[in-house]
Amino acid sequence: MPYLQDLATHPRFDAICRIKGWPPPGTPALTVGWLAPEHEFPTALPDGAFLDALFYLCAHHSIIRTRGFHNCLLPHATMTAPICIAHRGGEEARLGSAEIGVVGAGGELLLAPNLVFHYVEGHHYRPPDIFIEAVLARRALVLPADIPL
Ligand SMILES: [Zn+2]
Repeated sequence: MPYLQDLATHPRFDAICRIKGWPPPGTPALTVGWLAPEHEFPTALPDGAFLDALFYLCAHHSIIRTRGFHNCLLPHATMTAPICIAHRGGEEARLGSAEIGVVGAGGELLLAPNLVFHYVEGHHYRPPDIFIEAVLARRALVLPADIPL
């Protein structure tokens, strides 16, 4: 999984998701949480309500699915399993094979690998405020039905 700076233009969104008339021209599609070991990232202890909302998105609103799984490459105290599995509230989610999307308060589309839950919970990654607000507001990005993802 490539490193992408937070709030950069998503490199593949136009090619795979934009269809005639959607989203409206000029709507930015921005990256969040594309972490890699060689790049530092902001950290903070995650809030429980944010983790709850983020887990729900990762477990139930994954989009832009990939073939296979991409696992976390950040340093761990113990070896990780080949597939990252997260648990919260009695539910289980397999992470690393899709993205999640939320809509920022200004209409921006914010796209993150669904591993972002693990990054926040396990590595205390602190996403940009605009993403945290959109997740807490549960403004999930819903792709039009004719995008086969
Ligand atoms: Zn990790």
